Amino acid sequence: MAKTIISIKNLVKNYGNFEAVKGISFDVYEGEIFGLLGPNGAGKSTTLEIIETLRPKTSGEVNVDGYDLDKQPNEIKRIIGVQLQTSGYYPGLNLVELIELFAGLYNREVNPMGLLESVNLKEKAKAKFKEMSGGQKQRFSVATTLINQPRIIFLDEPTTGLDPQARRSLWELILKIREKGTTIIITTHYMDEAEYLCDRVAIIDSGKIAALNTPDKLIDNLVATGFERVKEMKKANLEDVFINLTGHSLREE
Ligand code: ADP
Ligand code: MG
Repeated sequence: MAKTIISIKNLVKNYGNFEAVKGISFDVYEGEIFGLLGPNGAGKSTTLEIIETLRPKTSGEVNVDGYDLDKQPNEIKRIIGVQLQTSGYYPGLNLVELIELFAGLYNREVNPMGLLESVNLKEKAKAKFKEMSGGQKQRFSVATTLINQPRIIFLDEPTTGLDPQARRSLWELILKIREKGTTIIITTHYMDEAEYLCDRVAIIDSGKIAALNTPDKLIDNLVATGFERVKEMKKANLEDVFINLTGHSLREE
């Protein structure tokens, strides 16, 4: 049986008298890619930021790798990697300087070139953050989550706004990070992304979990109810055509 690394019980978050998260419970297993899947406003970021110790909860229990959020938030901080808003980076520093800055904050030794190579940005080592494309910025921000060698990383809509090549390159990066044993929690509103990446997903809507399972099982359950698609799907879609014509390879725009 998989070991539980994050356990959430009856998590509630109210903003004033608005209930953004309405008593959700779920477990994340060690080494999996767990997706929080839902439309804008569902409560994904709120939930993530509470687990990350960045936002106070209203009630409920959060346990991360045996540490209780209420009692040991600093221990939790030490074992997680959090993606900051890309607007938070000093735009005038180059990538190596930014990594060294973060490493200093975490009090960790890092090899900036090795880290940049792992996210395919070695050639951009001396480029300033503001000079990079959207996809490169996202890959860099994923790299910064790895600086403190965390056991769990949190990615909040890492591919929103990216073109198909940049999206797929980020997917490969996320799979590579998981291969090394890191647990990943990701939020997205792209269903294809969740289906491709996630071992299990929680579908969250208006602050409640509507379903939680593997993508396969969720689809099988729906089909078992007699559901049929109105239109037979083709074996490829327009995005496949696009990728086929323009290539899988990374574009350093
Ligand atoms: P998601 O990430 O799924 O789009 P959020 O967690 O950001 O959703 O937001 C959930 C709900 O809580 C939304 O209705 C949002 O407007 C509201 N909300 C988020 N942050 C705040 C805040 N600081 N103050 C008041 N309401 C907020
Ligand atoms: Mg959000």
